[in-house]
Amino acid sequence: MTITPLMPVYPRCGVRPVRGEGAYLFGEDGQQYLDFASGIAVNALGHAHPHLTKAIAEQAATLMHVSNLYGSPQGEHLAQRLVDNTFADTVFFTNSGAEAVECAIKTARRYHFANGNPQRHTLITFDTAFHGRTLGAISATNQAKMRDGFEPLLPGFAYAKFNDLEGALALIDDNTAGFMVEPIQGEGGIRQASHEFLTGLRKACDEHGLLLVLDEVQCGYGRTGKFFAHELYGITPDIMSVAKGIGGGFPLGACLATEEAAKGMVAGTHGSTYGGNPLAMAAGEAILDVMLEDGFLENVTAMGDRLRQALEQMIPNHDHLFDSVRGTGLMLGLKLKSDSRAFVAFARDNHNLLLVSAGENVVRILPPLVIDESHIAECIDKLSTAARVYVPAADD
Ligand SMILES: *Cc1c(COP(=O)(O)O)cnc(C)c1O
Repeated sequence: MTITPLMPVYPRCGVRPVRGEGAYLFGEDGQQYLDFASGIAVNALGHAHPHLTKAIAEQAATLMHVSNLYGSPQGEHLAQRLVDNTFADTVFFTNSGAEAVECAIKTARRYHFANGNPQRHTLITFDTAFHGRTLGAISATNQAKMRDGFEPLLPGFAYAKFNDLEGALALIDDNTAGFMVEPIQGEGGIRQASHEFLTGLRKACDEHGLLLVLDEVQCGYGRTGKFFAHELYGITPDIMSVAKGIGGGFPLGACLATEEAAKGMVAGTHGSTYGGNPLAMAAGEAILDVMLEDGFLENVTAMGDRLRQALEQMIPNHDHLFDSVRGTGLMLGLKLKSDSRAFVAFARDNHNLLLVSAGENVVRILPPLVIDESHIAECIDKLSTAARVYVPAADD
C-alpha cells in the first residue's frame, strides 16, 4: 500500500504545528514560526486567544450539540447580532465556507422560483474566482485545476472576466439569477474589485431584478478593516457567504440574506445536522465580542497601513524579486517577479515565516487581526533577509 492514511490531496510541507500562541506557531520539534498565514485568514484572533478558548471550553462542558429540530437560543442570539450589524435580516449557519456558498446559491435560485421565474437559475461568476470545493462551488469557477475529472458539473453558471463590467453585463439573459463575486479575490491573488465594477454589478441587479451574491468568506469579518469588504464600496449585497474568520478556527460559516432575497427559504428547503450547534455559536459569539469592541477594526486598518507602507519601502531594495503590493487592511498581497510558491517555501523553510501563495505569483500576507507593530517589524525583517539571499530558479 502506498497511499497515505490521510488522503493525499494536499502537497503538505514540512511544518508540523502542535501548538500556537498569538501570532506564533510551534512545530513538533519546538521550532517557532511567525504565522502571517493564519490558517488562510481563519485565526482572526491569533492562536489560543483566551476569550475564544474559554468560551469554547465552557460551552463544551455545558451543551455541545443538539439537533436543529429544537429551538436554538444560542443560534437566535448570534443571528440577531449579525443582523444588527449587517445588511442582513436572516442567517443560516454552516460548518464551512463551501457550505455557506451552497446555501447562497440555493437561496438565489429559490428566490426566483418563489417569484414564479424558475428559469432564472444562472449565476454569473468570475474567472480566477474561488468559492470552495463542493461540486456546486467548483461549478461556480471555471478554473480547470479545480474542475478536471469531476465532470459533469452543475449547470447554471456563466463565467465573466473579473473587473470587466461590460463583459459581465453582456452575459445577462432570461436565465440569469444574479452575480456571485468576491469583493477581493483571495485565492485568485488578492485581486480587488474596482469601485466601478462592484457598484456597476449592484446597479445592474437593481435594474434587472437580479441578486447580488457576495462571497466574503475570505475578505469579510474584519480582514479589510471594515466588518465586511463591501462596506468599502458603499453597497450591500442581497445574499452573502461568510466563513473563515467568523469562527476564529472553529469550523463555522454562515449565509446572510435580506428578507426579500430569502423569501424562498421556507421550512424544509435546507438544513445541516451540525450547522449552528451550541458549541459553534459560542465560538462565533466570542469572536464577535472581540471584533465589535471599540477600536478593533481601527487597529486592523492602522496595522494594515503600517504593514503596507513597510512592504512598499522594502520593494526597491529587492526589486529583482518584488513587484508591488496590493490589497486592503490585513488582506495584503506581495506580487513577485517569479514563482510565488517557491519564495513562500523558502521564507518558511529558512526564515520560519508563514505566508500563503496565490494566483498571479502573489504572496498572500494574512496575519492575525490582533498583531502589533513588533510583529510587522519581525515580518519585514524576515522577508527582507529572505529576499537578500533568495535566488529564483532559472526557469521561473
Ligand atoms: C476559503 C474560501 C471558500 C471555501 O471555504 P471552505 O471553508 O474551505 O469550504 C469559499 N470562498 C472563498 C472566497 C474562500 O476564500
